Amino acid sequence: MQLPDYKEARKRSKEEIKKEYYVFDQDAANIGLNKTYFVKTYGCQMNEHDSENIKAMLEELGFTEAEEQEKADLVILNTCSIRENAHNKAFGMLGRLKHLKTESNKNLVIGLCGCMAQEEKVVQDIMKKYKYVNFVFGTHNIHRLPYILNEAFKTKKQVIEVFSKEGNITEGIPVKRANKYKAFVNIMYGCDKFCTYCIVPFTRGKQRSRDKDDILKEVNKLVKEGYLEVTLLGQNVNAYGKDFDNDYRMENLLEDVAKTNIPRVRFMTSHPWDFTDGMIEVIKKYPNIMPSVHLPVQSGSSRVLKLMGRKYSKEEYIELFDKLRTIPNVCISTDIIVGFPSEEEQDFEETLDLVNYCKFDNAYTFIFSPREGTPAAKLEDKTTLKEKEERLYKLNDIVNKYFLESNQKLLGKEVDVLVEGHSEKEGLLCGYTDTNKLINFEGDNSLIGKIIKVEVTDAKTWSLDGKAKDTK
Ligand code: SAM
Ligand code: SF4
Repeated sequence: MQLPDYKEARKRSKEEIKKEYYVFDQDAANIGLNKTYFVKTYGCQMNEHDSENIKAMLEELGFTEAEEQEKADLVILNTCSIRENAHNKAFGMLGRLKHLKTESNKNLVIGLCGCMAQEEKVVQDIMKKYKYVNFVFGTHNIHRLPYILNEAFKTKKQVIEVFSKEGNITEGIPVKRANKYKAFVNIMYGCDKFCTYCIVPFTRGKQRSRDKDDILKEVNKLVKEGYLEVTLLGQNVNAYGKDFDNDYRMENLLEDVAKTNIPRVRFMTSHPWDFTDGMIEVIKKYPNIMPSVHLPVQSGSSRVLKLMGRKYSKEEYIELFDKLRTIPNVCISTDIIVGFPSEEEQDFEETLDLVNYCKFDNAYTFIFSPREGTPAAKLEDKTTLKEKEERLYKLNDIVNKYFLESNQKLLGKEVDVLVEGHSEKEGLLCGYTDTNKLINFEGDNSLIGKIIKVEVTDAKTWSLDGKAKDTK
């Protein structure tokens, strides 16, 4: 049994990161034969991609995917701990699984992994109050799943294996991609920024960049397999390579990935701190790097940004934002937190001013959620939840107005769309524009899996409607 430890998780050693290779665990071979699994994923793209690895490992062991958890022999919850409500959702689901196990499926095996598994308190609670959970593993030891599962099956005891130390990089973990045309490619793991509100540096460990050769090999393979889009993933992609001894950085990687000729390249998430002019030049130079940048600002008040440990002021953010706007047709999205401890009306008004200046094409807005073990959780916070909610509603009204305006600017224009499949709206196809906007349109099924021109005929807040220009 190996439990999470926050003191260990906080440490940043100078130890070199080792690269390991995934080895199939022969002892666990076939443990899934005639059994089904269901993986429920919460949180960010990083977790979605981890679930793609988890599913592939399970299928190597003989499991097949069930359509719903009620029909599965094994259910794994891949959890998120970024905000309290993500926690509550996962615990709510554990309650439902307990019911399933006691009422209709006594042999159900339940596993929990992801960021919540890295939290000391969560694991202690699971050991005391959720004994029906069969196994827990952390974000640094996903590759150990076959071994852990085998232990849980053999011993019939609760198996807990969570490495708190930052972890190495494991290459070669199998992957079952959720989308036939778009793929996630991790370029780095962990985060060293330690924004004062954020749990990620604890749950995901020290920043570790993947070797460029491994990344390019993966992208080239995707090109050969016919993928049309890659999203380079990391908590802080612009810091790629800062943990290397050489000068190979994000702008070099982005250029090399663009040169593979994959039709679309995206990257996320960008921290304003490490966004270089060189990166902007590379984005402008390569038409297959999509003009879409997610640049979280978090607050428009330099005082609050300082307390958040974001290492840039409102003015510095705006300077970078203006430079990014020189990328032709670029769409810029952001994240904003309201109600950070000590945020006054004045600070909030500054956030609104910044939003009115930037007119973001999209924004994800959150109420501050104190996370145990982070510095901000200890700050005095006099603002009531009601006040915070009022700020959030006010902010959302404004950001939504700009989403609509951003979509309306495309009315009557032709946009490039990667057609992904059938829309939720009957009889229509759907896909995403180069700027990552959802568009529904009439068209022939043969267009699925192609990048085509679509004329925008209607613009709503959350999506566009259109008409395919290429009909076949
Ligand atoms: N690495 C990215 C960055 O620095 O911009 C963001 C990663 S985080 C998974 C996504 C977003 O969650 C953050 O940008 C922030 O807005 C929000 N977030 C993180 N911690 C939060 C907290 N304690 N309360 C509310 N929102 C939070
Ligand atoms: Fe969290 Fe800040 Fe790292 Fe983003 S950069 S993951 S917000 S600590």
